[in-house]
Amino acid sequence: MRHCLYCQHNSPTDLRDCPQCGMPLPDATMNAQLRQRQRRFFWFCVGLALFCLVMMLWLPRTILG
Ligand SMILES: [Zn+2]
Repeated sequence: MRHCLYCQHNSPTDLRDCPQCGMPLPDATMNAQLRQRQRRFFWFCVGLALFCLVMMLWLPRTILG
């Protein structure tokens, strides 16, 4: 079952659009895209953390205090 975000109508999973209001239902490809974006954001954060760590080690101690 899929839950329509617009009219809260429950639809069979094989339908792309809501039979009641005609709006597109959330599907697997959208979820995959969202997961990919979340993973990319995660690696961006990891890269940023590594960059900060390298900068902390690389900069002279006098500047950091
Ligand atoms: Zn609907």
